[in-house]
Amino acid sequence: MKICGLQKTTLLDYPGKVAATVFLGGCNFRCPFCHNSDLLGGSAPELMTSEELLTFLRRRHGVLEGVCITGGEPTLWPEEVAGLMSRIKEMDYLVKLDTNGGRPQVLRDLCSRGLIDYAAMDIKAGRWHYAEVCGVEDGFRLSAIEESAAWLMEGRVPYEFRTTTVKGIHTAADFTDIAAWIGGCERYFIQGFVDSGNVLKSGFSSYSRAELEAFLRIVQQTIPNAEIRGVDY
Ligand code: SF4
Repeated sequence: MKICGLQKTTLLDYPGKVAATVFLGGCNFRCPFCHNSDLLGGSAPELMTSEELLTFLRRRHGVLEGVCITGGEPTLWPEEVAGLMSRIKEMDYLVKLDTNGGRPQVLRDLCSRGLIDYAAMDIKAGRWHYAEVCGVEDGFRLSAIEESAAWLMEGRVPYEFRTTTVKGIHTAADFTDIAAWIGGCERYFIQGFVDSGNVLKSGFSSYSRAELEAFLRIVQQTIPNAEIRGVDY
């Protein structure tokens, strides 16, 4: 496990909380629209050690309320991540996990150990082309993604699903399938694609607000409280 990035303060990543976001290097997916492409391989440089992170969090006590653990894909290092989360929770911080859902057993284990206060799972696309959208066709297991989603929907921990929506990848058919798949879930957000300048493959663009609203109307048929998030255009 390598800590490759730290956002010292965010009001956006942990719903309703002032938080810091910790970026772990490495991911088992290669989504072509990934905006953290420099974190995906093993060669991403380490920004700080876990001890240095904990020292930072100790100093920010009383200012921050939560810590978001994101990536890359944090569930790739179950024991190291569990150890880090445990120490963060000992400092009375809330912990949020961002995951692509590819490792349901790790998600379940971290939750059952009481290490996660809020889980955010990507729903990358409609199920029929999920592997292609994740960029890993060999050995991809959609059943693992479905297992993670179904487990979260049992409601053992507060959670959200979200889809980053990319012109050139997603169409209305994706949202029809997503609506059928995770209908009735606690929270679901449609997010617009933003070109961070660090995207894995170039050539993608954003949908307009009106186009995103049309997708939203589709999912609202089964997830009435679904929202568009983080789109200021
Ligand atoms: S967007 Fe895809 S490739 Fe990038 S970190 Fe998330 S799951 Fe991994």
